[in-house]
Amino acid sequence: MTTSATSFSSLPLTPAFLANLDSLGYHEMTTIQAQSLPAVLDGRDLIAQAKTGSGKTAAFGIGILHKLNPAWFAVQGLVLCPTRELADQVANELRRLARAAGNIKILTLTGGAPMRPQIASLEHGAHIVVGTPGRLRDHIGRGTIKLNHVQTLVLDEADRMTDMGFYEEIAGIVSACPVRRQTLLFSATYPEDIRRATASFLVNPLEVTVEAQHDNEKIEQRFYEIGFDERNAAVGKLLKHFKPESTLAFCNTKVHCRELAEELRQQGFPRWPCTASWNSANAMKSWCCSPTAAAPCWWPPTSPRAASISRTWAP
Ligand code: ADP
Ligand code: MG
Repeated sequence: MTTSATSFSSLPLTPAFLANLDSLGYHEMTTIQAQSLPAVLDGRDLIAQAKTGSGKTAAFGIGILHKLNPAWFAVQGLVLCPTRELADQVANELRRLARAAGNIKILTLTGGAPMRPQIASLEHGAHIVVGTPGRLRDHIGRGTIKLNHVQTLVLDEADRMTDMGFYEEIAGIVSACPVRRQTLLFSATYPEDIRRATASFLVNPLEVTVEAQHDNEKIEQRFYEIGFDERNAAVGKLLKHFKPESTLAFCNTKVHCRELAEELRQQGFPRWPCTASWNSANAMKSWCCSPTAAAPCWWPPTSPRAASISRTWAP
């Protein structure tokens, strides 16, 4: 086993935990993990800024699991996520990480699901809760969740949560947690307004920023503001105009993936196989398409009234 600075074995983790990481294919820490995990395992508060797909979930997941007591049925770790899909992804990743740590119950509490089964699950006891701010606030309001034993509080994708107007809910949830706790904040961006809004949640945090690994010079981004109903047709027009060699499209729902696939088929892109799939790194349903013409491109929807198209030029 290697013991380099980026090896998980340089961290104070049990052999069983390390063996599980190895079985997950986690042989070396990602940059954000290497820069944050030593401080996280030491109990320090953290503000970590890194792009999507950089391995932030394990950076806080390992931190939560490290100090969790499986024999104590109390909510010891709480993770706030902006959406139900992200909460599900985080919970699944935590379950994989927890395999070596005993019988740990991880509960997802998000909106769009009935309250009653969630309340029943809470009554049975959970070690870690992953949830969206609105639903967690509802449970706190009804007195169906107790957060007074939370040791680790994580704000995942903090910028998206504040963009979505969740600040009041988050502040209420934070105040339901003990004052003595570890708080870890993860965000792709950390503008001044979020810094000001969240400053009171953290005590002397370590700040870690990991720049994107790609060369920005090679990426050209384009933004098109179009009507909601014109989105699918616009994608077809742009593909015909730019003739990319291969294309990866991201949509925020599976239904939209299918609609876009259908539109493109009608526009004469029969080779797009368009199997709807889950993209864990981007928290979106996505589908990948077969080669079309000159260079790869991707399409992240931003708001219902706006869509952007980026073209990534091959080096
Ligand atoms: P982020 O939250 O930064 O967007 P994720 O935590 O979702 O990123 O991780 C992105 C992907 O990388 C996931 O599929 C995860 O399983 C994988 N991953 C995370 N850390 C490692 C690692 N050290 N080695 C290999 N794969 C990793
Ligand atoms: Mg993430």
